Amino acid sequence: MGKKIYIKTFGCQMNEYDSNRIFHLVKKIGFEKTEDQENADCFVLNTCHIRDKAKEKVYHEIGRVKKIYKQKLKPIVIVAGCVAQAENEEMFKREPFIDIVIGPQSYHKINDLLNNYVSKKHREETEFDTVSKFNFFDKIENNSNKVSAFLTIQEGCNKFCNFCVVPFTRGPEYSRSFHKILSEAETLIKNGAKEITFLGQNVNAYSFIENSKEYRLSDLINQLEKCSEIRRIRYTTSHPRDMTEDLIDCYKNNKKLMPFVHLPIQSGSNRILKMMNRKHTVEEYILTYEKLKKINPSIEFSSDFIVSYPGENERDFNETLDLVKKIKFINSYSFIFSP
Ligand code: SF4
Repeated sequence: MGKKIYIKTFGCQMNEYDSNRIFHLVKKIGFEKTEDQENADCFVLNTCHIRDKAKEKVYHEIGRVKKIYKQKLKPIVIVAGCVAQAENEEMFKREPFIDIVIGPQSYHKINDLLNNYVSKKHREETEFDTVSKFNFFDKIENNSNKVSAFLTIQEGCNKFCNFCVVPFTRGPEYSRSFHKILSEAETLIKNGAKEITFLGQNVNAYSFIENSKEYRLSDLINQLEKCSEIRRIRYTTSHPRDMTEDLIDCYKNNKKLMPFVHLPIQSGSNRILKMMNRKHTVEEYILTYEKLKKINPSIEFSSDFIVSYPGENERDFNETLDLVKKIKFINSYSFIFSP
C-alpha cells in the first residue's frame, strides 16, 4: 500500500496551486493524496504569512497534529510556504515535532528531502531558487483536472509596501517563460479546464523577454482567448501601477476575459498610500477605473483595505469611505493593521 500524504493549505490561490504541484511531485515517489488527516505518513502545512499572527497559527496547528498522533506513529511533518521561508530553522528550536521546513521557492526539492528523511534529523530548504523551481516543474505535467484551473505565471514582488512580507518570503519578481505557460495551459485544457486564472503576487507585472520581444500578461490573455475550449479567463492579484494600456485594451478585445478586476488600493488617502510605499495615488487608481468603465460599464471592482494604518487619522479614513462610495466595490478584503 502506498504512503499517504495530507496537505493543509492556508492563504491564497497561489498556495493552492503549489499544494497541487507538491501532490503531483510526491506521487513519483509513491505517496498518495489523502483527505484523512488522522492517518497520514506525511503531514504538510502549506502556510501563509500575510495575515495577523500567521506564525502563531502554524504552531497552534502543529500542536493539534501532535495531539492527533499522540498514540500513533508520528508522520513526517513538513512546514512549507511563506511562514517556513520567514522563520526557517528557528521553527525546529520552537517545535521539534517539525521535521522539514521548506520555502515556497524550494518545494521542488521535496522528493529529495523525503527520500533522504532520517528520523529526528531536521532539514531546512529556504533558498530563493525560483528559476530552478520553474525549470524543474516545466518538465512535469500539471495533472489538475479541474474545470476551473489556476496557472502561476509570475512570483515575487519588487514593490516593498511597508506592511507586506511577500518580497521577503517569495523573493524578487520572476516571470515564467511565455511558451512554457502556454504549454501548461494546453495540458490543463486537455484535462478539461474551461476557465483559467493566471496567478501571480503581481500578476500584471508579468514580463518575459525572449529574442528581444517582451511578452506581457495581455499577450497571455490574447493567446488564451483563441483557444476554443476556454470559456473564461481571469487573473489575480494585480497592482494599480501595472494596469498598463495593453492590459486595459484586453477588456475591449477579449470576450472571455471576465468583467471583474481585483485591484487592491489599501487606502483612499494619498498620505497613507505614501506612508505604505504603495507607489501610486488615488487619482491614478480612479483613472484606471474610469478607463475600464468606459470600455465596459459592467466591469466590477474589488479591493483590499487596511484600516488603522499607523498615522491614519479621521480625514484619511473618510477619504477611504469616499472612495468606497465612488467605486462601489462589489467585494473587499478589509483588515485592521497588524504589525
Ligand atoms: S505590491 Fe502586493 S505583494 Fe508586493 S509588497 Fe505590496 S502588498 Fe506585498
